[in-house]
Formats: sequence, structure tokens, C-alpha cells
Amino acid sequence: MNGKSSDCHVAVVGAGPYGLSSAAYLQAAGVEARVFGEPMSFWQNQMPAGMCLRSNWGASHIADPKGELTLDEYCRQNGNHISKPIPLERFVDYGRWYQSQAVRDLERRNVLSIDLDARGFKVVMEDGEEFTARRVVVAAGISPFAARPKEFDGIPPALASHTSEHKDLRKFQGQRVVVIGAGQSALESAALLKEAGIAVEVIARKETLNWVGLHARLHHLGVISKMLYSTRDVGPAGISRLVAMPHLFRRFPRPFQDRTAYRAIRPAGAGWLQPRIEGIPITLGHKVVSATVAGSELRLRLDDGTERLADHALLATGFRVDVSRYPFVSRSLVKQLKTVNGFPVLKRGLESSVPGLHFLGKPAAWSFGPLLGFVSGAEFASNELVRAITRNSGSN
Ligand SMILES: Cc1cc2nc3c(=O)[nH]c(=O)nc-3n(C[C@H](O)[C@H](O)[C@H](O)COP(=O)(O)OP(=O)(O)OC[C@H]3O[C@@H](n4cnc5c(N)ncnc54)[C@H](O)[C@@H]3O)c2cc1C
Repeated sequence: MNGKSSDCHVAVVGAGPYGLSSAAYLQAAGVEARVFGEPMSFWQNQMPAGMCLRSNWGASHIADPKGELTLDEYCRQNGNHISKPIPLERFVDYGRWYQSQAVRDLERRNVLSIDLDARGFKVVMEDGEEFTARRVVVAAGISPFAARPKEFDGIPPALASHTSEHKDLRKFQGQRVVVIGAGQSALESAALLKEAGIAVEVIARKETLNWVGLHARLHHLGVISKMLYSTRDVGPAGISRLVAMPHLFRRFPRPFQDRTAYRAIRPAGAGWLQPRIEGIPITLGHKVVSATVAGSELRLRLDDGTERLADHALLATGFRVDVSRYPFVSRSLVKQLKTVNGFPVLKRGLESSVPGLHFLGKPAAWSFGPLLGFVSGAEFASNELVRAITRNSGSN
């Protein structure tokens, strides 16, 4: 057990971009916080080696209060260069460097449970330590929300798995893999499989593939580009600007918010993937209606009546937020949380219906828009969080 075993004002659960950034902002504001988690573990363990970030350079800095811990500064201090698009391994290293600079007292341990107690929240660590925090910031990412189509229920992991279960797709060497999905993760996984010499086919319900970043010219029109695109890099021209202002975005009627959010983050591949998926068989406009085990293989039946025999189905089918699936949030807390479609309903300060319990990152997207699902939303989230905490209680 870590030597530290004391109550604190704020406990931050998670050490990805949101947890690290919010910790740095809390520290700069003089708010006492304990921060938990393995730094950048989701990126390190649940994304495929060889992947590149879809977000551009300007939208991939992890926000810090002085704007000093940018990718550029990381390169300068470490005397190295990062190619574009940004390779996953370099981004993980950047995140760990950020942690070493800004969140030195990170406790690399997992939180086991959080529940209400008389003075705030009772936090229990996996190693048995217990303490009370007056506030809890959940910045634990999307890992528990991996979405599997129900047709694959009951199929053993050896035959079907979600993309987030893999850190190296070369393990499929010698197999025939069907990738399900049409977003960045599906298309990039397919490219990586093909490049590793693995037989791969993509199947998706979408009638066409969507691409982002194909209109490079629109980004080089000076003032006009600035009017069309925010540096946050979430969504197409115009929408990009709107979703970069979460307080404005959330004032619009819900149907507009939902439609715009979908448009901002609909399944799409980065333009630079196009040449890399050439030659891969892609079946669009069709859905897998049944998956069955056939000896050591997987038999997939599509809605056009055709079948595929494969060794593995890689489900690039995204994530569906449902905060009740965070294993550390107690059942009694879950019952008190006001949610919509699994998302917590949040007010200013990204605070939930349980006073003192905050959610950062993708779970905040129903209340504050799609920006919150991306690294570039951390600046807004951290500022908002710190403002609310310091306004409510002085600095401590
Ligand atoms: C394949 C893929 C590619 C992506 N590419 C991009 C991209 O290019 N650009 C972009 O902006 N976004 C991208 N995203 C979205 C990305 O997931 C989020 O932007 C980012 O991870 C959000 O950071 P986070 O801190 O909320 O979550 P995470 O990075 O997932 O961090 C969560 C942290 O919480 C910790 N944690 C979880 N449970 C506990 C616990 N019980 N106790 C302690 N710690 C815990 C984890 O260890 C982890 O460190 C991508 C997502 C996927 C799946």
C-alpha cells in the first residue's frame, strides 16, 4: 500500500488526458487533490500498436494551466520529432512525460469503490486503503463501455472480440479476420491487419464510407478557415466552431444538439487512411444478422443471405456510455445519479446530480457536447471543474 493514507478535498479517478489535465489545473489553483490510475493505460493497452491519432497536432495537446506542456515542448525537451499523423506510441510517451512534469504525486493504483459517507465520499482502494474525499472527479474513460452487437452474444473471445481488447493485431497472423464497423477504428484496424499480411474483410451497415480531413484547402484560407474550424478539431466546417463552445452548444434544443453531435462524430476515417485500405474487400450496406460457431471457425450470415467463414470477428463497434458500468461506482450512488441513456446529467462544473461527484471526458458529452469525448475538450473540462470547486469552497 502507498504510504499516503489521508483524507483529501478531491480524489481524481483516472490518469488519462482528462485526469492528468484536471489534476494539473487543481494543483495550480491550490486545491488539494489525490490522483489515481495508471498513466495513459487505455492508450497503451487498448489501442492497436502502429495506430496513429485521428485528431490533428493542435487538438492533441493535453491542456495545462500555463500552456507549457504541449506536444511541441515535449519534442523540444526530449530532442525528438513526432511525425504527423501522431503515432500512438509517441502520444503515450507524451502523456507520461506530461504526468512526470505536472502530476508528480500520481498514485499508480486503482480505486475499488466509491460510495457516499457522512463527510463526502468513502473511497476504497484495491490495496485496501480507505479514505474520505469531499469531492470525486471521475475521469476513468470509456473502457467499460465497449459495445458489442447482440448477434455476437455467446461467441467465445477466441472467435469474436472488441477492438479495445487488443494492443497488437499481429496476433491474428495466419487467420482470416472480418472487421465489423466503418469508423476510424475499423478502417485503421483493417489497414494494420492488411499491412501485417493478415487476410481481412470489412463489413459495415453504412452505405458509404465517410472521410475526414479531405478538404485540406479549407484549412488554409486564413480568416475564413478560422471562422469554419476550431482548433479543437471536432466536427466538420461550421459545426467544428459550435461544438468548441460547450456552454453555447448546450443551450440549443435537445434534438438539434443530438443531430449536430452525431454529425460531428459520425463514423468516419481519416483521409490519410484511404490509400492504406486499398485492396481490402469492403462490404457496405449490410449487417451481420447471425454469428455462430462452426467447429473452430465463425460463421457470419449477412442480411443479404450471404455467409462468411472467418477465424475471428473484430468488433470495431464503438463505445456506449453507461456510467452504471463503472465498476467502482457503488450501486447506491448509481441509484442517485440522474442519467439519460447512460450519460450522467451534469450541471456547471461537470457536477452530477450527486453534489460533489463530477464526470469528465466522454460521459460529459450528453450535457456538454461531443468535444468532451476528445483530448481537446480537456481544457474546457479542467477550467470548468476548477472554477466550480474554487467558487464553492474557496481554494480548499
Ligand atoms: C481507437 C481510439 C482512437 C482514438 N483516437 C483519438 C484521437 O486521435 N484524438 C482524441 O482526441 N481522442 C481519441 N480517442 C478518444 C479517447 O479515448 C479520448 O480522447 C481520451 O482517452 C479521453 O481521455 P480520458 O482521460 O477521458 O480517458 P482515458 O484516456 O481512457 O483514461 C482513463 C484513465 O482512467 C484510469 N482508470 C480507469 N478506472 C480506474 C480506477 N478504477 N482507478 C484508477 N484509475 C482508473 C485508466 O487507467 C486510464 O488511465 C480515441 C479512442 C479510441 C478508442
